[in-house]
Amino acid sequence: MTSLASFTLKSTRKHEWIPITAQVQRILAASGITEGICVVFVPHTTAALTLNENADPHVPQDLQVALDAITPDRPEFRHAEGNSAAHAKTSLVGSSLTLIVTQGSLLLGTWQGIWFNEYDGPRTRTVHVRVLGESGE
Ligand code: ZN
Repeated sequence: MTSLASFTLKSTRKHEWIPITAQVQRILAASGITEGICVVFVPHTTAALTLNENADPHVPQDLQVALDAITPDRPEFRHAEGNSAAHAKTSLVGSSLTLIVTQGSLLLGTWQGIWFNEYDGPRTRTVHVRVLGESGE
């Protein structure tokens, strides 16, 4: 079995970490697939996806500080849009996640959550979710 679904979200700031675990889990549940793989993908060049702690809100804030430190705006950047630092963050963090599905749920660590990362907001963004597997019944 396979299922493809998408949803949109609106970022409200230039840099924003938006938790999307619940949306992805809802799409997984609607697919009826209980054992398999879930691929989450964003079709954007200045946004990304990552797994990280979803308990302490200081963690995503600190991760953004760390990303800003390693991808500052540089006078050497030539991209006319002026958002090369955002493009760099996207390439470093990545555009997709591959997750294990078992017993109808995402197999995540206790503290792990799926984060949509906005690096050049505010914008309306799209997230695609492909689920591959079997119903197990
Ligand atoms: Zn650009």
